[in-house]
Amino acid sequence: MKKQRILITGGSGFLGSHLCDRFIKEGYHVTCMDNLLTGSIENISHLIGKENFDFVKYDVTNYVHVKGDLDLVLHFASPASPIDYLEMPIQTLKVGSLGTHKVLGLAKEKKARFLLASTSEVYGDPLIHPQSEEYWGNVNPIGSRGVYDEAKRFAEAITMAYQRFHNMETRIARIFNTYGTRMRLDDGRALPTFMRQALKGNPITVFGDGSQTRSFTYVDDLIEGIFRLAHSDESEPVNIGNPEETTILEFAKEIVELTGSKSKIVYEDLPDDDPKIRQPDISKARRVLDWEPKVARKDGLKMTLDYFKHQVDKANGEKKTN
Ligand code: UDP
Repeated sequence: MKKQRILITGGSGFLGSHLCDRFIKEGYHVTCMDNLLTGSIENISHLIGKENFDFVKYDVTNYVHVKGDLDLVLHFASPASPIDYLEMPIQTLKVGSLGTHKVLGLAKEKKARFLLASTSEVYGDPLIHPQSEEYWGNVNPIGSRGVYDEAKRFAEAITMAYQRFHNMETRIARIFNTYGTRMRLDDGRALPTFMRQALKGNPITVFGDGSQTRSFTYVDDLIEGIFRLAHSDESEPVNIGNPEETTILEFAKEIVELTGSKSKIVYEDLPDDDPKIRQPDISKARRVLDWEPKVARKDGLKMTLDYFKHQVDKANGEKKTN
């Protein structure tokens, strides 16, 4: 059988690089495209030079060209942590809108299937709980998070338009909070921040009173869900996430305990429009993908601890040599 060829945009980011690994393992030829705005070569350095892997440094908000055939395109390029999209609001809007348009155009030209990395942020600060795919969301278009939320909502809209108008095969994954190796220590998200603070013995910064909830998915579970969705017949959005919900205060305490840290918890202002609750309803993923997460938070966090220890040591080393 002919080798399947896949393009992964954002392929050197946290999720993108894990997807590169998975699709290489499955026997695909992988082209990883990334402008390295938030991604890092380190995440894919072990793949560079492999026969089945190419890396192209490119910004997909411009016309995208890829040589040869493509069977599948995964569009994962985007800043994806609140700090990143606050610092890069225009790039975030551009990659979700212009970038999605360009990558859809490429997939259409190549007659490839297209999968969009969408997000639970399309539900905004949700008024129903847990969130199922039927919910339309509660998003502030002009708030600081609006640049990400609205870009992804537009990305879903244009993906559905290409599906309906151009008869393209498209898939949409609504990805909930995910954690694992290759997260950046300084991306401002709760887990890397709490790990860094706990491992250094610094105060743990909980925003608001910490009663807001999130549901965290271990990266291997997420990748399995994306892999199944990419090969499924489901053409409408599917939530991929772990329904195991926690308050952020509880989460901070779990990390203090896991690291054996003496860090104290301090409270800081809640960022604008920070969702108060979030939990995926994954009935649809269970039904159409026969998928559900396998890794409980307490096990996933344990598996991630060594990675964060190493990152903190590395950052400390770099500081000393500077
Ligand atoms: N958060 C926090 N302290 C931090 C970073 C984040 O309390 O140092 C909170 C944040 O306000 C949010 C939750 O943790 O309620 C998850 O934040 P994250 O940035 O990981 O993801 P998102 O808000 O996009 O779900």
